[in-house]
Amino acid sequence: MDTSRNTPSNFIRNIIDEDLASGKHKGIVTRFPPEPNGYLHIGHAKSICLNFGLAEDYQGTCHLRFDDTNPEKEDEEYINSIMEDVHWLGFDWGDHLYFASDYFDKLYEFAVELIKQGKAYVCQLSADEIREYRGTLTKPGKDSPYRDRSIEENLDLFERMRSGEFEEGSHVLRAKIDMASPNVVMRDPTLYRIRKIAHHRTGDKWCIYPMYDFTHCLSDALENITHSICTMEFENNRPLYEWILDQVYPEPHPRQIEFARLNLGYTMMSKRMLLQLVNEGIVESWDDPRMPTLSGLRRRGYTPAAIRDFCERIGVAKANSLVDMAFLEHCLREDLNANAPRTMAVLRPLKVVIENYPEDQIEELDAVNNPQDPEPDTRKIPFGREIYIEQEDFMEDPPKKFFRLAPGREVRLRSAYFITCTDVIKDEAGNVIEVRATYDPNTKGGSAPDGRKVRATLHWVSATNSLPAEVRLYDSLFTVEEPSIDALAEQLNPNSLEVLTNARVEENLAQAVPGDKFQFERQGYFCVDKDSTKGNLVFNRTVALRDTWARTNK
Ligand code: ATP
Ligand code: MG
Repeated sequence: MDTSRNTPSNFIRNIIDEDLASGKHKGIVTRFPPEPNGYLHIGHAKSICLNFGLAEDYQGTCHLRFDDTNPEKEDEEYINSIMEDVHWLGFDWGDHLYFASDYFDKLYEFAVELIKQGKAYVCQLSADEIREYRGTLTKPGKDSPYRDRSIEENLDLFERMRSGEFEEGSHVLRAKIDMASPNVVMRDPTLYRIRKIAHHRTGDKWCIYPMYDFTHCLSDALENITHSICTMEFENNRPLYEWILDQVYPEPHPRQIEFARLNLGYTMMSKRMLLQLVNEGIVESWDDPRMPTLSGLRRRGYTPAAIRDFCERIGVAKANSLVDMAFLEHCLREDLNANAPRTMAVLRPLKVVIENYPEDQIEELDAVNNPQDPEPDTRKIPFGREIYIEQEDFMEDPPKKFFRLAPGREVRLRSAYFITCTDVIKDEAGNVIEVRATYDPNTKGGSAPDGRKVRATLHWVSATNSLPAEVRLYDSLFTVEEPSIDALAEQLNPNSLEVLTNARVEENLAQAVPGDKFQFERQGYFCVDKDSTKGNLVFNRTVALRDTWARTNK
């Protein structure tokens, strides 16, 4: 029985429903098992939403388990960032925080058990030889010359591997399955290798570390995971997952279920590649707002609700596909449109002097904060003789379709008045540096009592009563839809970051703190960056806005 709310069904839910209906399980236990070797990305969000989401919907439990069996690549910093990101997305593992490294003793015992059953052996082939002996998809493998050692000898050698007697790479423990299996994964896979490196949690206790395939199934079993959901590339590993449990673990076993990983256009999703972007200084850090990491998206201004919504709407399937970045942005806009207060900011200012407005007067006008609210509230914005408008909203010699400000032309200033351009002032090079205008005092609030229309509405800020700000505009990091790590240099977008240092924002934003989100009217959604300070505001453009009202007449 599916106890979920409005979530559409999918093949994973069908399996769970069957397992509950047949009485195989009374409830479900899932897990999210990141390796702490980098920051989480949007692909991980899909897995997090799926695993934690299923647990929520079926009133089950979802564990957070760090798959920390590769000490050379793993780091405490990553563990902390992963926990922060899962929480930020809105999920909680409660008491169920686990580390594969906590199972090292038990895993060792399981390995000994396999050896005692004659199903694992210590092999002294080199890594290259093991590869060579393994064969290929079309050619069967060859038995290792060490395959038929006695159980006693294997037990002795494995114990000596553990005690540090042998060099790295000289010995491995392998499962004894079938070197002729059509599934290459089953050709006597390595279970343990020697690594003389301290582990961030177990210190120097171990110099042998279990491989992913050995660790993962047993960790799942030890935690009573019912449904072990992973990505398609582990499909070939499923027989090994089941084989290991069949040898050493009592039923019921967790069931591995694969789904297609998320791929997004114009970005990349592998931690190894993301690490390279960081290490080579191509981006500033893991949380650079151009990164597809959750910390990057957060800093960019993405909301957890938008990401959860996206993950739900892309659904789960078995077939790999490439999702459009536009769809992620669409989900984001929906959330921000509903929730981000409106404000005005001028990114590239052009001064307008309203010549018939009293010199020292500042008046407070009312502006709506979010017209999407059922009962929208308003704020006060100061209006005076000198204002800024966007440079691109003025043209001295406009083409036919340009309806914004031009000499002799009347336009509306959002929430303020109609103004008419009377003159321009230029620098020596002939660039317009200031516009002169008059305003119609009868158009306060933005409509004329005589019903006359204007064809454009511009955003603006007071020149004297606004704040300077830095605004960072982002574009995608890559110029190709599916970038590859080997061609990074040619595929990088040289214009992925544009910094505007002369922007002006409403003085209402003086108190804004990092993470605050706004719609800058007509410009998009923006988020206060962590570099921002009270006196030095910094905004990231989260996502552009489709200009919906500049040409309409309201
Ligand atoms: P990467 O290739 O980016 O390093 P990974 O699979 O090695 O990813 P893990 O830390 O092992 O990273 O992943 C933790 C969980 O997240 C796994 O269950 C994995 O299947 C899932 N996951 C990783 N990338 C994606 C993705 N792009 N889409 C969906 N799930 C993903
Ligand atoms: Mg991995």
